[in-house]
Amino acid sequence: MSHPSLEAIRRLPKVELHLHLETSLRLRRLAERHGDVDPVEPHLVADPAKFSGYDRLRRLRYASRAGKISSDLYSAENIEQITYELLEEASSQHLRYVEVRVGGRRGFSLLGAERMLEAMARARMRAEDEFGIASGFIITIVRERGPEEAEQRVREAIACRPCGVVAVDLAGDESNYPPALFTRALGLAREAGLGITVHAGEFAGPSSIWTSIYQLGAHRLGHGIRAVEDPELLAYLREHEVTLEICPSSNMRLGLVNSLGGHPLKKLMAAGVPVTINSDDPLLLGTDLSRELHLVAETFQLRMNQIAELLHNAARAAFVPDDVRDRLQQGLATGRARA
Ligand SMILES: [Zn+2]
Repeated sequence: MSHPSLEAIRRLPKVELHLHLETSLRLRRLAERHGDVDPVEPHLVADPAKFSGYDRLRRLRYASRAGKISSDLYSAENIEQITYELLEEASSQHLRYVEVRVGGRRGFSLLGAERMLEAMARARMRAEDEFGIASGFIITIVRERGPEEAEQRVREAIACRPCGVVAVDLAGDESNYPPALFTRALGLAREAGLGITVHAGEFAGPSSIWTSIYQLGAHRLGHGIRAVEDPELLAYLREHEVTLEICPSSNMRLGLVNSLGGHPLKKLMAAGVPVTINSDDPLLLGTDLSRELHLVAETFQLRMNQIAELLHNAARAAFVPDDVRDRLQQGLATGRARA
């Protein structure tokens, strides 16, 4: 039996949990449409392939926006517009619910967390009205900016819950900034009832995942693919339903796996770990959720029911109240039957 086509996957109702707003890239694209941006200056850009691990991600991001983005672009109107466009694009590939993460320092310092998130909230309401797509926001804490800034971000996230903030995410340099530095910050978030997701098991091994769970109370893991190295950890993730947010193109581009065929996705699925598929940085990587699902379907010869299971896992792990989750699950099932 062959795997489903890209078109069939595009028609399916979907849920995505790991998607960065990519503020600077989207602002750049917005400015380019108005012919209002300096061209990228290739001689200023180092080749990302010459770097490895997290440094490669940093270089990739830099390469795509060299030529600078002026501070004027960080207006509330533009933030609302780029969020609206992201949700419009998500809805056009039939996402029913998406969690959008945001953590760029410039936006937060130039506009302030409140104005930034209020602008995003306006886009969220408009998109829900116009396209019927629901969404939540995740505030990303960047490890290398230290524990103090992390605490500040968490306090802002808690204060801005009415804007649709559902969780905090710990991201950044996993190898050099261990989870213990952020126990206090993430403890505050947990006490306030926010969801916790941690980028872990991406650039560092299983111990980084264990500590993310035990010291930070992670409900979900960004990537987490190196869990495959530790059978005890796999059993733990399965038993406690700690969901992995796997982003196949991102994993490949950052050199975590040599080819998609060598990606541990199938092993993780076989071990009963709840896994989801996500696009991570779709503009940077030139992808979207439908393409990512199709890529894994093609590589691992997944059938439609296995794709549906991945989407069902995403609905189950979404940071939403139980009644919303039930509606989401029902929507996936009936939408699938119709697609
Ligand atoms: Zn990410």
